[in-house]
Amino acid sequence: MAVKKILSYGTESLRVKSKEVLKISKKIQVLVQDLLDTLYAKNGVGLAAPQIGENVRIFVIDTASGDEPLNPRVFINPKIIKKSGAVNSYEGCLSFPEAYTNVRRYKNVTVKAIGMNGRPFILEAKDGDLLARAIQHEFDHLEGILFIDHCRNRFEANKVLAENGLAPIDENYLLDEEYLEEEIAKNPEEKENH
Ligand code: ZN
Repeated sequence: MAVKKILSYGTESLRVKSKEVLKISKKIQVLVQDLLDTLYAKNGVGLAAPQIGENVRIFVIDTASGDEPLNPRVFINPKIIKKSGAVNSYEGCLSFPEAYTNVRRYKNVTVKAIGMNGRPFILEAKDGDLLARAIQHEFDHLEGILFIDHCRNRFEANKVLAENGLAPIDENYLLDEEYLEEEIAKNPEEKENH
């Protein structure tokens, strides 16, 4: 019911692990609506509650583009229960305006979460498509992990961050993803996957 301010990179609470939702209260319903309102106002693909200052385990995704009808998906207390393969993903984040870089992601993921009706659901996303990559990106926000922690080239990432007036990468957060990097290198055609 409101477009919220999105916290930008450098804000400490973006590095905090978020808390489970215990009940889909009125407050949670308002929060979900705020997330969707903010997502659509910013033309984003996904947005997680910590990005609007609420460290609770909720994110929203809508991968519809152009003339496609809106397709809001709400994930409460999500868990990634299966992941496989690897893909290069050229990503940005609403907390990093205009900054895009290449990151490592799993190609296929299965997520289990609770929907707005309070019922659990399972969703499978495949082939490194936008949904598969967005689920991983948004899930990370609930763990205090940011997309640049998965960057394939820290020099390229730092250059983009500097160009956009953002702080450089914090090396302490860089993830060791040897398996993913090897898998991506084996499939060079994936490199142009945006
Ligand atoms: Zn993000």
